[in-house]
Amino acid sequence: MLPYHTLQEAQVALGRELSLAETLWFKYSANKSDFVLHCHNTLFLCLFYSIFSIPLVLIELSGYEKLNKHKIQPRVKRSFTEMFKCYKDVMQTFVIAVSPLQIISYPTIKWIGIRTDLSLPSVWEFFWQILVYFVIEDFSHYWMHRMLHCKWAYEKIHKVHHEYTTPIGLSAPYAHWAEIIILGIPSFLGPALVPGHITIYWLWFILRQLEAVENHSGYDFPWSPTKYIPFYGGPAYHDYHHYVGGKSQSNFALVFTYCDYIYRTHKVTFVILND
Ligand SMILES: [Zn+2]
Ligand SMILES: [Zn+2]
Repeated sequence: MLPYHTLQEAQVALGRELSLAETLWFKYSANKSDFVLHCHNTLFLCLFYSIFSIPLVLIELSGYEKLNKHKIQPRVKRSFTEMFKCYKDVMQTFVIAVSPLQIISYPTIKWIGIRTDLSLPSVWEFFWQILVYFVIEDFSHYWMHRMLHCKWAYEKIHKVHHEYTTPIGLSAPYAHWAEIIILGIPSFLGPALVPGHITIYWLWFILRQLEAVENHSGYDFPWSPTKYIPFYGGPAYHDYHHYVGGKSQSNFALVFTYCDYIYRTHKVTFVILND
């Protein structure tokens, strides 16, 4: 919660006019506790997971040839009932595992110093900080994901996520509740090591959702902006990991592929022939 009651009070305290973004942030956050702002993350998680997945569901159901020709494993078609079941299961896991985790992690958020004040980060700060979060998560996620492929962890936990040998956008967070918690650690590590403003924290988790949904989309669209990101794995790369399933000992990378190259777990990726 901001320590000012009015915009004028804030301007006097800062000794300058507020920018438009700061004014909007004041109007939105002034009367909300830091706990409520922190809990927005769960709301954004459910909201953006749904928003990013809807177009993919519509493409799958429409059977529209111009888009469906980019499907990575075209033989498998999903019905509305199947996709809705996946959505329902994921939402259940969000309620059972993610929401309580968000609530109990609040003291940690305060302790590491995620701030909610009026000094909003610049565009460059957003960019660099989120890039650092991606790199930190990528490295730690690689090893945790690889660990989940050992016999015990795979059978007890990771097998659930691999039920989808042909992933769909909705199946991105489809996993055992324990996996959601385990792989939540690498996502949280970046903000913990390099804490910033809560708006960066929100945007980070929103972009992670977008990336996860795209990676599990089952479509390799040639016009996707992520094609221009160096070392970006993409959907075809992760699709192969799911296609091989339990025996998979390759393509563990989440976003960038450099860990797979360095630790020699890089294998082939799907290539769409009917361009
Ligand atoms: Zn896996
Ligand atoms: Zn996956």
